[in-house]
Amino acid sequence: MTPLRYARANDAGDAVVQATAGARYLGGGTNLVDLMRETIERPKALVDVSGLSIGIEETRSGSLMIGAGTRNTAIAGHPLIRERYPVLARAILAGASAQIRNMATTGGNLLQRTRCAYFYDQSGSRCNKRQPGQGCDAREGFNRNHAILGASDACVAVHPSDMAVALVALDAIVHTRSCEGERQIALTDLHQLPGDRPDIETILRHGELITAIELPPAPLRSTYRKVRDRSSYAFALVSVAGVIALDKGEIRDVRLALGGVAHRPWRARRAEAILAGGSAGRLAFEAAADAELSEAIALSGNGFKIELARRTIVAVLEELTGDGA
Ligand SMILES: Cc1cc2nc3c(=O)[nH]c(=O)nc-3n(C[C@H](O)[C@H](O)[C@H](O)COP(=O)(O)OP(=O)(O)OC[C@H]3O[C@@H](n4cnc5c(N)ncnc54)[C@H](O)[C@@H]3O)c2cc1C
Repeated sequence: MTPLRYARANDAGDAVVQATAGARYLGGGTNLVDLMRETIERPKALVDVSGLSIGIEETRSGSLMIGAGTRNTAIAGHPLIRERYPVLARAILAGASAQIRNMATTGGNLLQRTRCAYFYDQSGSRCNKRQPGQGCDAREGFNRNHAILGASDACVAVHPSDMAVALVALDAIVHTRSCEGERQIALTDLHQLPGDRPDIETILRHGELITAIELPPAPLRSTYRKVRDRSSYAFALVSVAGVIALDKGEIRDVRLALGGVAHRPWRARRAEAILAGGSAGRLAFEAAADAELSEAIALSGNGFKIELARRTIVAVLEELTGDGA
């Protein structure tokens, strides 16, 4: 048996002090505990932060602060989230199951690890994320679910979170705390592309605790569409989060993010640049999707994702600019 120390943190300050080398934070445990059971993650200690920073509060500037310990179900059901940020409520409800969402925390959801089968399979598979320098069996193997954008020779895995895709489209800000102090990180900068170190997934330092997510005021129309093999309880093949503001048929502001296509939630800045300031319409939507996917690279088993992403981007933009927009 591997010895493991468990402690419940009293507050954020206590948590960062307890997060010594080899320790990991425990949120709802729905990902970390699975990985520990498979011995892919082997922390020496768990610092339980699931009871910290719970709740959603509106600030004076109209932003919403979501505590990192807030459960996914609580966010998706909150009246202000449903009213102002439907993209976020929909993304969360499109993920996992009700039981898992009841356990999963905001911080843990953002830092959940890939579902690449080779990352989980320790019976002879090679995975650079599990063991740096070992090789990547997904590249030439079963890669139907894998990346079409931003992948590297070392890793073609995708980020699995639905919630993170919506947060990227909302320009959310991650608040953190560590022994060095507090900082704020744009969610678009939190996750990294794999490069030659796919085991390093975010810019967080060891022991850096996510304390809250800030949602800037969003008087915009927004939605989330997820395409998957089953209608529930399946990770995205492709998903698109869209946020838009129209002014007499002209696109005043637009933000798009894609899930299921890259090692991080993919902010579609090329598409946004084509759309911003122009008229809403199918030709513009198709041009934007084509621009975004112009550098997409298919693996042996996932070429269908390029067309799927293209159609899903167009469908989301049509939904956002259709009747009643
Ligand atoms: C069968 C199944 C299906 C699923 N389907 C989907 C799906 O379709 N879409 C989807 O998005 N997700 C899906 N999930 C994943 C689920 O959403 C995640 O497991 C969950 O969100 C993780 O949250 P948690 O609080 O349980 O994290 P934990 O497992 O507790 O932690 C995950 C990671 O985050 C770290 N961590 C936790 N809190 C903090 C913090 N405050 N600061 C810093 N680090 C922290 C932990 O150390 C760990 O590394 C599925 C999971 C399962 C088991």
